[in-house]
Amino acid sequence: MPIDYTQKSYWLNSYGSYTPNPPVTGDITVDVAIIGGGFTGLSSAYFLRKAEPSMRVAVLEAEVIGFGASGRNGGFAMTLFGLEPAVTAMLFGKQRTIDAHHYCERAVDLVRDLIREHDIQSDFEYTGFLRLATTEGYVKRIHHDLELLTSLGATGIEWIDKDKARSEVNSPLVLGAWSEPRCGILNPAKQVRELKRIAQASGASVYEYSPVSEIQRGARFVLKTPQGTVTADKILFATNAYSHLIPEIWNKQVPAFTHMVITEPLTSAQLDSIGWQHRQGLEDARNLVHYLRLTADNRIAIGGSDVSLAFGSDMQRDMNETTFEQLENNTIKLFPTLKGIKFTYRWGGPVSVTLQMAPAIGMVGDQRAWYSLGCVGHGVAPTHLNGQTISDLLLERKTDLTSIWFVNRDPIAWPPEPLRWAASQALLTYLHAEDWWYERNMK
Ligand SMILES: Cc1cc2nc3c(=O)[nH]c(=O)nc-3n(C[C@H](O)[C@H](O)[C@H](O)COP(=O)(O)OP(=O)(O)OC[C@H]3O[C@@H](n4cnc5c(N)ncnc54)[C@H](O)[C@@H]3O)c2cc1C
Repeated sequence: MPIDYTQKSYWLNSYGSYTPNPPVTGDITVDVAIIGGGFTGLSSAYFLRKAEPSMRVAVLEAEVIGFGASGRNGGFAMTLFGLEPAVTAMLFGKQRTIDAHHYCERAVDLVRDLIREHDIQSDFEYTGFLRLATTEGYVKRIHHDLELLTSLGATGIEWIDKDKARSEVNSPLVLGAWSEPRCGILNPAKQVRELKRIAQASGASVYEYSPVSEIQRGARFVLKTPQGTVTADKILFATNAYSHLIPEIWNKQVPAFTHMVITEPLTSAQLDSIGWQHRQGLEDARNLVHYLRLTADNRIAIGGSDVSLAFGSDMQRDMNETTFEQLENNTIKLFPTLKGIKFTYRWGGPVSVTLQMAPAIGMVGDQRAWYSLGCVGHGVAPTHLNGQTISDLLLERKTDLTSIWFVNRDPIAWPPEPLRWAASQALLTYLHAEDWWYERNMK
């Protein structure tokens, strides 16, 4: 019985009519089979066909395109990699931090350029980004991150003081901000379905309602789906936060569920009261970040605040009443003039977390099989560029993209349950404790 995907996010719910493609039936043979129809899978299919127009490429999606994080996210195409630069530097070193930042800059530019080139209709606005400091501790944290990145050669990001920041976003909580013009906001359900359009126009096949339940590995791969099989020379696991359900890559990542709420459209008076005339994507500087943006029809969509963890194969952690309430309350804390505004939709979705909270692209066995996962809540832009990187890897081409350090970085393995649960709880408790410390004097 297919899951009702229209309930999985405001974006999927408000999309209008959508007709999924039929599933795989019978036996088909391709050069590359891609498991997972989100940004990663579709972008990889598009770039493969662009690079090798004769290549037979099929995307197999268990539900519908955008069923996973790609149809549910906040829609920020931004340069943040993993959690934050200081964490990346601590875990991977400074050179890798700046290399990752440049990769993400390129990724944001790619999203913008793809949208322009293919006239993608996803309500994209190139608004820029503000990382808001809401306590003195966060002022220091943002300065630290900014000094780190600029000392490594990053350009185009500046600190703006309290007055300037409040002239951009009129909130009594704001004490200054990281201001970065390189960021766009988009409607993710529209974006992912437009990626389906351009992947198909390039010649790739897309099958929906085609969950891959078994993979036989021999001279070729044979992928079983309920109504047919796909034989392929090469495969890609573009399964992100669902990857722990797949025996070949079960220990690379775990899912964590982040939640979102959305308001009714703001009136002109409400919009005037909160400033925000440049409509930047906003995040605060917590570990368990709040992220918020305006939609094309001037609703505020806000997410984050906490995450829900799942035990074993459970993927039903989308809804969390406590977090929804926190998000609604925090919207009013940030913008007291919006008191009484109605929230019209609540949803959540899984992000993919490696033990070091950074993305990983890697080989499974040999060069014929690859996986890509682990972008946590900052994957919209990178997954688009990862598609191009993965295309180069599958075509066995050495390029500047394939030499990025998180290709074949071999993430530390998550242990099996119940240790996995204990480890992820411990990590979450640490993130909470640090947020508490930074906010201990906040009213
Ligand atoms: C609520 C939320 C808010 C977010 N906000 C932002 C944001 O504002 N900015 C940002 O940069 N990032 C954000 N992210 C993260 C971002 O959405 C993800 O990093 C990105 O969408 C991952 O894309 P993907 O294609 O790798 O994975 P997904 O979109 O999750 O796609 C994986 C697909 O694989 C399919 N699948 C799984 N198993 C199988 C199988 N066996 N057979 C066939 N198909 C299978 C799934 O159904 C799914 O559709 C957010 C995520 C969430 C959940």
